Amino acid sequence: MIHPDKAFEIIKKIEWKKETEIIPIDESLGRVLAEDIEATLDSPPFDKSAMDGFAYNSSDSGKKLKIIGSIAAGENSDLEIKPGECVKIMTGAMIPKGANRVVKIENCTVENGFLTFIEESIDNIIKKGENLKAGEIVLKKCVIEPQHIGILASSGIAEVKVAKQPLVGIITTGTELKNPGEKLERGQIYNSNGFQITAQVKAMNCKAKYYGTVPDDKEKTKQIIFNALSECDVLILSGGVSKGDFDFVPNMLQENGVEILFHRVAIKPGRPTLFGRKENKFVFGLPGNPVSTFTIFEVFVKPFLYQLMGFEFKPTFFRGILSEKISRKRTERVEYRPVIYRNGFIEPLPYHGSSHLNSLAFANALIKIDKGISEIKKGTTLDVRQI
Ligand code: AMP
Ligand code: MG
Repeated sequence: MIHPDKAFEIIKKIEWKKETEIIPIDESLGRVLAEDIEATLDSPPFDKSAMDGFAYNSSDSGKKLKIIGSIAAGENSDLEIKPGECVKIMTGAMIPKGANRVVKIENCTVENGFLTFIEESIDNIIKKGENLKAGEIVLKKCVIEPQHIGILASSGIAEVKVAKQPLVGIITTGTELKNPGEKLERGQIYNSNGFQITAQVKAMNCKAKYYGTVPDDKEKTKQIIFNALSECDVLILSGGVSKGDFDFVPNMLQENGVEILFHRVAIKPGRPTLFGRKENKFVFGLPGNPVSTFTIFEVFVKPFLYQLMGFEFKPTFFRGILSEKISRKRTERVEYRPVIYRNGFIEPLPYHGSSHLNSLAFANALIKIDKGISEIKKGTTLDVRQI
């Protein structure tokens, strides 16, 4: 049994092909940006008005000014004002030559083509390049969020280079499993992991291919692993990875030429977790209990998949005060439990162990209890990992 930190070290050493592709920005949500992006133009590209109002020159402050025209947003205007003149201007429009201030419409009175106004303390002009100068870095390698797409668009960038996503195959093992929609016989349960893991993979924008459930049968397990390994970059198996009479996954992986890099981690839930590789393909064997698969995906698989895409995933932590003490008898493993982080407090949830999937229904974070720790006192300030 290896410490989770050691397991993570093994995972972190893996290098992958780092392939990229160029895609339109409107298809880039959730993808990993493969390069830093430089602004191609100043933002804004010209001095523009921040208000609907009148553009004038500060040397004319306090005077009654002649209105010589108007400029709308988007208008390519050559208007120029001379002393004693002003121009009506809309938000986003170019500031005319000769003007260096805008007074907003609410402070203006217009009579017979002349403007009188109450002077403001600010100029209401967004200067060329004020937000960003051409050549500045607008985005660093990141997972692309909606606001990033806005930033790219505002710089006139229509396409971006992103990391190619690994194709992740998912196999569930277990003779006892039926899919939702099917009728359960005695001794059977519904397969939740197949759907949950597929969703976890898709939620981070990797390509997922679910191969369905294989019964606990050596040959069938070997065959489905063979098929999935021939097609996918990463394979995730659920169940069959422990020490039971029908846990065939580790052996069948080896019979398919997979080298086991670690098997059994001092983590709870998820002790039987396995990680292996065959050439440039990688395999996670996760224990079948659904809180285990969920947690191990969060802690190991998700950072690994991002790593393959050239991005270092850093979980978000909430800092809060523990609202109730947490205790446990055995301390030889690092343990994760579901909690709710709310208004600065960390509230432990009723949790009966790794089969208690419903405990995740209201959880938004996982609390980590380190090896050797048997109690965390109520009132302790600590960080919990967002899920
Ligand atoms: P295993 O790791 O195969 O020994 O399975 C551990 C526990 O998880 C058993 O109670 C299984 O019935 C359950 N389990 C295995 N696979 C799934 C699955 N796909 N969905 C829900 N529960 C599962
Ligand atoms: Mg099983």
